Amino acid sequence: MEELEVIDRAEQWAGFLKKKCNAQLNKISREFPSTRSLEIGYDVLEKYGKTGTILADDLLEHPGKTLNDIKDAIRAAHLISGKDIEGNDISDEIINKTNIRFIHLPRKTLVRDIRSEHINKFISVDGIIRRATEVRPRLVVGAFRCANGHITKKAQEYGSYSEPDMCGNAECTQKKLELIQSLSTFIDSQKLRVQETPEGLRGGEQPQTIDIDCVDDICGTVTPGDRVIINGILRSVQRVQNGQKSTVFDLYIECNSIEISVKEFEEVNITEEDEAAIIEMAKDPGIYGKIARSIAPTIYGNEDVKEAIALQLFGGIAKEMPDGSSLRGDIHMLLVGDPGIAKSQILRYVIKLAPRGVYTSGKSASSAGLTAAAVKDDLGDGRWTLEAGALVLADKGMAAVDL
Ligand SMILES: [Zn+2]
Repeated sequence: MEELEVIDRAEQWAGFLKKKCNAQLNKISREFPSTRSLEIGYDVLEKYGKTGTILADDLLEHPGKTLNDIKDAIRAAHLISGKDIEGNDISDEIINKTNIRFIHLPRKTLVRDIRSEHINKFISVDGIIRRATEVRPRLVVGAFRCANGHITKKAQEYGSYSEPDMCGNAECTQKKLELIQSLSTFIDSQKLRVQETPEGLRGGEQPQTIDIDCVDDICGTVTPGDRVIINGILRSVQRVQNGQKSTVFDLYIECNSIEISVKEFEEVNITEEDEAAIIEMAKDPGIYGKIARSIAPTIYGNEDVKEAIALQLFGGIAKEMPDGSSLRGDIHMLLVGDPGIAKSQILRYVIKLAPRGVYTSGKSASSAGLTAAAVKDDLGDGRWTLEAGALVLADKGMAAVDL
């Protein structure tokens, strides 16, 4: 019965791929290895009739198996094929090295809502790249040689290096094995840390993060500060503390695809009623003072400060000069005053008001902390990590630096 179902699925996938992804499949056949990822729109799959709905559900619930099903379908229906220079058929190798990537998932999971029920499920999260490590090769299958020259291969798991207990040759009793790099398989890898978007946070909440494990051709495609949608499988890995295995597991997303989102201010929804109200208010000759006074209304006085902030929030107009140089329309503000006159309170209020507002204070506001910092930390497993600072995270928004 189970066997039947597997065959069924492969056939369904083959039917879908032939109809919707033929051009891409041919491109991979022609251009491998420079093109080696098949991008499938989840929205396209979902609209592919009743079969599409079933296949789409399958992906969300059993992503690991589904990705294998798709490869089986490609193999069985000969959807990808290729030959090397000598004319040998290398279709199988191409198919094995092709990545099946899904994009355009309609439902997003908030980073703070990720729970154990999502483990091994396909999820989609959006956020900002907070940190990104260097792209470095990772061992996938290690080839180990014993003193007698036998080679034993061992697949490596995420995050830990393991050697075979002894030589794989049945007649050999050697236990000391050496890793042979030239016979081992490596893949490009990069780790990212994604922070949830500040717009989704209620005032004063700490943004949460999740780590993303990327391999192969999606490595190096994003930089800290980029707004992205990460699609992938939520995985758990056992935490190790002082060499002891803990009962607590850490979560990460095994990245399937990255979409770079170029959202500007569309996260601010203006309804028709809002628009009508704005136009109405614009007719009021006293609107300028009203806007300035509406900033931090609970703080008494400080009218000139509030006026300056109002002007900053609206910003100026970027100008292109006749000689080709350009003038930025952004306004910066330096707020100076004695302690205890509500400078910090005003700043916090503005950050809540402005879309993409980021507040940073005191010690974390070194020059590197504001732009970007290269650090060696736990995320990178010894690799260098680039971390986005407050100014990068607040790009096109408002950054408040409280000293
Ligand atoms: Zn041996």
